[in-house]
Parts: sequence; C-alpha cells; structure tokens
Amino acid sequence: MNPATFLTTPVYYVNDVPHIGHSYCTLATDTLARYERLKLGKEKVFFLTGTDENSQKTVDAAEKAGIDTATYLKDMATKWRNCWDTIGISYNDFIRTTESRHVETVHELFQKIYDKGDIYKGTYKGLYCTGCETFKKTSDLSEDGRCTDHPNQEIQQLDETNYFFRLSAYQEPLLKWFEDNPGWLQPKSRTNEIVSFLKSGLEDVSVSRETAEFGISLPMDPSHKVYVWFDALINYYSATRTDSREDFWQSAYHIIGKDITRFHCVIWPAMLMSAGIELPKGVFAHGFFTVNGTKMSKSLGNVISPIALSEQYGNDALRAGLLSSFEFGNDGDFSADNFAEFYRTKLAGGVGNLFNRVTVLITKLCDGQVPVLETSFEAKTIKDEFDGFLERKQLKGAYDFYFATVDKANQRLNETEVWKLAKVDKDAADIIFAELHQYLEVLSEMAEVLLPESAPKMKDMVGTDGKVGPGGILFNSGKE
Ligand SMILES: [Zn+2]
Repeated sequence: MNPATFLTTPVYYVNDVPHIGHSYCTLATDTLARYERLKLGKEKVFFLTGTDENSQKTVDAAEKAGIDTATYLKDMATKWRNCWDTIGISYNDFIRTTESRHVETVHELFQKIYDKGDIYKGTYKGLYCTGCETFKKTSDLSEDGRCTDHPNQEIQQLDETNYFFRLSAYQEPLLKWFEDNPGWLQPKSRTNEIVSFLKSGLEDVSVSRETAEFGISLPMDPSHKVYVWFDALINYYSATRTDSREDFWQSAYHIIGKDITRFHCVIWPAMLMSAGIELPKGVFAHGFFTVNGTKMSKSLGNVISPIALSEQYGNDALRAGLLSSFEFGNDGDFSADNFAEFYRTKLAGGVGNLFNRVTVLITKLCDGQVPVLETSFEAKTIKDEFDGFLERKQLKGAYDFYFATVDKANQRLNETEVWKLAKVDKDAADIIFAELHQYLEVLSEMAEVLLPESAPKMKDMVGTDGKVGPGGILFNSGKE
C-alpha cells in the first residue's frame, strides 16, 4: 500500500463548549494534516475528530439544561462542529460516540476481548470521580479526599459488580512493545513516564458500570454499560470501519493531551492486542498551557474562547499565535499581550508588509513583470528545512523558521534599498526583485500549512505567468 496518514484528535466531552486548550490540540492536528496532504495528496490523508458522548456527565448536563439527553447531545455536537468549521479545521470526519457505526464497533471489540478470555466479572470496591469519569485511588485525591481536578464534586464510593479487563496480562507485551518501538510515543519524556509506570505493575481495570443510566450496553450483558473510556478509545477504529477507509487504520496516529497518555498508551494498546488488531503507528502527547501564568478555569473567569480570538484577529492569527507560543510537546504560557505583539510584528509587520511591498514595487518599477533570475535561489533549501520541522512535529520550530525567512526577505529589501537601486542600475535591481519574488513564492507555499486562510491571497499576489498580482493587506484586523 502507498503511504497514507490517519491523524486523530481525542473525542472531546460535550458537556462544555470548546475552549482554547481544545483548539490548541485540534489546530496542531490540523497543521499536520495539511502538511501530509501537501506531501502525500489529499486522498491519502484522513483527519478525524469528534465528540465523546456516553458519559454520565452529559446526562447531568442535559438535566441541568432541562432538555432530553439526545437533543442536548445533538446540540452540543453541533456546537463543537461549528467551532471547528469557524476556525478553519480541515477534518475529514466527525464521529459522535452515540452513532450506530461506533456502537457496533464497540460491541464487536468487546466481544472479541471477552472471547479471548480477557474480560471477567468481579466486584469493584473503590472510588470514582464522575468529573474525570475515572476510578481513583486514595493516593490520587487531595488531603480532604477530593479529586484535585474536581474539588467541588463528591467522590463516589462504589461497591458494584463490574466486568474487568485483564490489563495485568499485558504488562510484559506492552513493555516489549515500547522496547521494540522506542519512537512510538512522543515526546521521549512521556515514553519514559509510561515505561516506568508499566514497570511498577498493572492492575486489571473495571470496564463496565452497573449503575450507569447512559452509555453502550455490553453485548453479553445488557444490564451493564461499557465504561466510557473503554468505549471512547474505540472511536478511532470505528471511523475506519467502512470499505473505503479500512486501509487507513494501519496509518493511525493519535494526537492527545498529556493527561490522557495512560489511556492511549497503556489501556488502548492492550485492548488492541487482546482483540488481535494492529496497534496505531504512533502517539504524540502535547503539553498544556497557562494563560498569563495562571491555569485556565471557569471559576477564575480566564477561559479564552477561540471564536472570540478568531473574530478579532482572524483564523490564521489564532493558529499561528497558539502554535508558535511554545514547543509542541512542552508546557507553556499564552498571554493576550504577547499575542497582540505577535500579531503586530510577525503577521502584519512581517508577512503582510513583505508581500505588499514586493508586489507593489514590482508593479511600479518592473511594470508588473517578474524579472527572470539566471542563478538558482535557495527556495528548495528553504522548503526542505521547513519540511524537516514538520516531519519532527516541531510546530513552533516550523513557525519560527517561517518568520525568520520573512525577516530575511524584509532585510534583503531594506538593505539593498532596491527601490533606489532600480533608478541607477536596473539590471542589479532586477536580480533582487527576482529573488524577493521567489521568497514570496516559497512563503506562500509554506503558508498552505501554517497560514492556510492567507495562502490563496498570497498566491494571488505572487501572480501567474511571470506577472505579479495586485498588492494588498494580508493582516489588517486586531487594531483597536
Ligand atoms: Zn475528577
């Protein structure tokens, strides 16, 4: 089979609207998808996102909103989808975990794992946080016995019959997997975390809830619902269960937040091993960011809406500002002040200024004709170096390189004072014009990945058949 790429974001809980943290993950995946499409061709890339709906949280949220669960879920899924459409996410498929295509796949996998003997009935006695939809140990909780992420919710004491997944049987196979596939989980620091977690020993995990009102019923015991995490992970596989997409599974690559690494790199591969399904090609777990040095939270009122930022500055500014703030994989900080400064200097003053000046100068001083350059320019080297950053998933690196290239071109323009040179030595000026025009060409090409909404406008300015297009302002929003 020819190379292909299947990129996924997590399925997001629908009990809230997307904030900038979800957008960060989705925009990062979108950037990689756009790069892969340029490299492999559109039909070779499958980009999946969606919503995680089989949770008690959604039932509670629907009750609170006073509407029935199905309507609530549909409305929320639409909100998520609209947000991604608004900020220019190029997903190929949007999966909802309440869809029948997913339910059927969950049944199929659950049955396979059961038939393998890896699911058995037992009693779960212990703690559970509905906020996280996660089983907790006392050592996970704060001193007053509350979930550190959900201090306002009561921790539930569970004593119920559950079905368990024999995760303990996969400790050795998983350790071997990580040993044989050292680059499978990126960045490397997360691999180290997971490997030491594996070495500390694995316990079997409960994969059903007897008391849950909502969710996917177990195929062999409809009185139980599949534990929401066990069901949600399967979404990636469900989305490939059509004839046209089956081949994509072997190219699956998950982009996730670091908080869900254990689910994706311990439980999920163990489930797949048990079901006899090939493991995904890799996982990348990104870090989290604070806003002005503070964790984003509703109670602090510092949650930033991606829609609001996009309305003020535009979609390209939103993605470039977020993805260039700190290296993909690390933790970082995002501040509105830095963002405004970034917009002013890098986008409006950097990229926008360069494109407008070069096209206007060639129009005025060369009658719109792009001079032909005899010697070859470094465009190919620029593109190769740029691709290297994306191959390594260094998204900040790619943006930094892009803006450094813009600076180089602007510098060339300023240092040569080509507008003056053209009056005294037109031949010498033509060489500079040709060079600057090639900069615009390669920058507009790279923009298809990094600044996709501006890219067509850039291409218009670059022009066709040796003639530049009209000048224009690429970034003119965000002004007070
Ligand atoms: Zn919690």
